[in-house]
Amino acid sequence: MPTLLIKNALLDGERRNIYCEHGRIVAIDRQQRDADDVLDADGLLAHAPLINSHTHASMTLFRGNGDDLPLMEWLTTRVWPYERRISRDEVYWGAKLAILEMIRSGCVFFNDMYWDSHAVAQAVEEMGVRAMLSSVIIDITTSESERRRQMERIERQFDEVRQYSDRVQFAVGPHAIYTVSEEGFCWAAEFARAHGCVLHTHLSETEKEVKDCYDEHGCSPVEYLDRIGALACDLVAAHTIWLSDRDVALLGEHAVVCAHNPVSNMKLAVNGVYPYRRLDGAGAVTALATDGAGSNNNLDLFEEMKIAALLQKFHNDDPTALTATEALEMAAHNPAPFFNLDGREIAVGRRADLILIDLSLPELNPVHDIDSHFVYAANGCAVDSVVCDGKLLMKHRQVEGEEEIVAKANEAARVMFSRVDGA
Ligand SMILES: [Zn+2]
Repeated sequence: MPTLLIKNALLDGERRNIYCEHGRIVAIDRQQRDADDVLDADGLLAHAPLINSHTHASMTLFRGNGDDLPLMEWLTTRVWPYERRISRDEVYWGAKLAILEMIRSGCVFFNDMYWDSHAVAQAVEEMGVRAMLSSVIIDITTSESERRRQMERIERQFDEVRQYSDRVQFAVGPHAIYTVSEEGFCWAAEFARAHGCVLHTHLSETEKEVKDCYDEHGCSPVEYLDRIGALACDLVAAHTIWLSDRDVALLGEHAVVCAHNPVSNMKLAVNGVYPYRRLDGAGAVTALATDGAGSNNNLDLFEEMKIAALLQKFHNDDPTALTATEALEMAAHNPAPFFNLDGREIAVGRRADLILIDLSLPELNPVHDIDSHFVYAANGCAVDSVVCDGKLLMKHRQVEGEEEIVAKANEAARVMFSRVDGA
């Protein structure tokens, strides 16, 4: 495996050489060493990469198509009709475009939910990043044979994804309680438990979801997941906005990773605000996420950190409601152990995953407080270079093959939309 030397990076206020071998940081000092690849990081700040805890990577193909619509109208008219006939090739190029965008904005791990985990796994493997890929199940209106087919697809993709490197992890993604039958959800939870996988779902996103759940099951969505045993899994729950005190206590008790998607929530006007202080106080893990590009419309976690902080302050009428350091923890640290990542610290023995921030940019000067700059002043373009698994994925804003990825993703989107619109 090639070695990498990052020269003169700023780390803990000093210039250091960071030497990486076999995907790990093996030395942080002032020594000069020979390496297969050398990055001149003079004046660049070394920092842990960002973690995108909930997205649908391939939905970059839907970017800007069907904006400004209510959630269910958007899903039923502008997303699902196309996704029903999306090809493997389209999933693959959509994922590649997403990964390119995430690398360029300092993120090397994403927690995905989509139809063809095998196609996304191939994109992840080739681009050199890390991901947890949830194969989705949506079966509420399908026939018994279609439900069976979805279960078989998940079983097949579990085996396919296992063939890749340890940068790729498999998970099971029952979409939401309003799109998955009780039988389907129980099967997914059981599969996750039996195979040591994470369970990944959307939860309590809208008031309607909660009302419908009370009508159908006589309890809240969180209580329903508790009843069917899903909370006992290693669970990532995206959104978790409409919560009773009992719901918050349950999510805390089970240390559920709550993926907070402030931009998507505000864009789709889910009419509620993520209850950060309540969930944090109860013991749930808050992790930041972009959701898919269809409802964001980019995958820049720097933007997400700022908006998360502003939303909590504005909503709670309290400038201390979410600090810059807390926002950065949500994006770089809180969910790291859950996703088997090393997290915020850059140290000898840790995985060689890091980003280098260009502190010469006008908007990042003067430097009083780095966490403040990350959250309030920077955007993804402040990331100069990106390293994952000891490999340089972006060198001074250049990612290998980016022109081809953009061109192929554009072509994939054109083919996907014309297939349905032209029918
Ligand atoms: Zn989502």
